[in-house]
Amino acid sequence: MSIKQIVGSERQTHSAADVPGKRHLFNQHNLAAFRQGIEQSLQLVSHRLAAVSQPFSGVLPQELAPAFAGIDLDTPAADQAAVLAELAALYLDDAVYFHHPRYVAHLNCPVVLPAIMAELVLASVNSSLDTWDQSAGGTFIEQKLIDWTIGHIGLGPDADGVFTSGGTQSNLMALLLARDTYHARRGHSVKLSGLPAEARRLRILCSTASHFSVQKSAALLGLGYDSVICVPCDERQRMDVSALAATLAQCHAAGEVPLAVVATAGTTDFGSIDPLPEIAAQCRAHGIWLHVDAAYGGALLLSPTRRHWLDGIELADSVTVDYHKSFFQPVSCSAFFARERRDFAHLTWHADYLNPLSAAQEGTPNLVNKSIQTTRRFDALKLWLTLRSMGAAEIGAMFDHVIDLAQQGYRLLHGEAWLQFAAAPQLSTLVLRYAPDSAQDDAQLDAANAYIRKAIFRSGEAVIAGTRVGGRQYLKFTLLNPETTLDDLAAVATLIRRYGDEYLATTRAPLALSA
Ligand SMILES: *Cc1c(COP(=O)(O)O)cnc(C)c1O
Repeated sequence: MSIKQIVGSERQTHSAADVPGKRHLFNQHNLAAFRQGIEQSLQLVSHRLAAVSQPFSGVLPQELAPAFAGIDLDTPAADQAAVLAELAALYLDDAVYFHHPRYVAHLNCPVVLPAIMAELVLASVNSSLDTWDQSAGGTFIEQKLIDWTIGHIGLGPDADGVFTSGGTQSNLMALLLARDTYHARRGHSVKLSGLPAEARRLRILCSTASHFSVQKSAALLGLGYDSVICVPCDERQRMDVSALAATLAQCHAAGEVPLAVVATAGTTDFGSIDPLPEIAAQCRAHGIWLHVDAAYGGALLLSPTRRHWLDGIELADSVTVDYHKSFFQPVSCSAFFARERRDFAHLTWHADYLNPLSAAQEGTPNLVNKSIQTTRRFDALKLWLTLRSMGAAEIGAMFDHVIDLAQQGYRLLHGEAWLQFAAAPQLSTLVLRYAPDSAQDDAQLDAANAYIRKAIFRSGEAVIAGTRVGGRQYLKFTLLNPETTLDDLAAVATLIRRYGDEYLATTRAPLALSA
């Protein structure tokens, strides 16, 4: 049978009615179903949102697990209503709500509405940002946001960047480019030939308060955790620059090669900002790659009053910015930047079917040439709609507001005799512990603070984080919600005291309680 015959015969293997998936596809024939589905989901989320009275239900894994046991994923639910009711029971009822003012745990932000609208658009159209021929305008939207951020950082005319899945991926890219640029200058291509023997001598320097993705990256890059040297911090948890100088001297004396220094602009635990100009000067003097991890502090770029806290970031060889932290964007939305666009070539692979060399020579902008991902979400659209709807200044003002709140919270609470702060706040975290004089010793306080965190989580009235400082158990508030008030912080402090006192009473009189 020829093509002509098939076309002429109007014979089809399926009648129009029974094409698989026909009713479920995103296309112009299903607009009514599309609207209805979105409308129902919108109602579900809005009803939930209206009903949220605390950030968490307090559910335990063993309480929620049985609900999943009966679900047979090979068999769909009876109808749309059943699907959504099930979703509410399995997920929405017990989700942790970051928009609630008493969610003050990790670096999760409440999200702005334009970004959620963008999620609908980008998921529906489903552009993939690896190549121009899959995204066209999307490529320019992302590139313009990259160039805009580079302008705010001040990285210079040769800088470039790309959106990533998060700070972890951005930090990996930074150390990958640092490693491969170092070897390329010495005539060796790691991309082609792998690590040379001398790579064993490479060292990555960061501070004791840096993010663990530095160690993870070192492992993934074949350098190992042992290649990472954590430089001590000063009392405000900033990298101690004289300790950095001493560490560099020790490295050189021992025949080790400092490859890169990772400075943090907003440490995850303390919000502390390493002294960027001083670190940059040392890196320049020794020809060492400077990466600035501004995953958390990045929105200071837009701050009306605190932009100068990032002075020196323009001297970096590479920078990490997480829009899904301080720019109030939904996960994922993040980017990586490098001062020299040509360094991205260390991770470029030209595939005949996707991004052939000829396309690059013709000037086709294929973002995959700069990414370690291939198929990649159009996360840039979220930031785009945010900036076009709200403006950059309002994002900066929102971040400024939570930094103010942290300082007010510190002033409110640091006089409390039963509380101890690890440090004064810098960005928007408060690190403190329950420590009344009546406690027996530090071991008991460690146990009490671990108990407090769990008890508050179980109550669901608030969610706070925990961390260790100097070997001791602390509690942490990360403030990213401009609607959190001093009253909220006072209420969370009251919970800390209540559960702390409860713990001490229990451990002091265990027999009385069990009787
Ligand atoms: C959150 C964070 C990261 C990791 O970013 P993800 O987006 O979670 O991958 C890296 N560095 C710092 C300083 C961070 O706070």
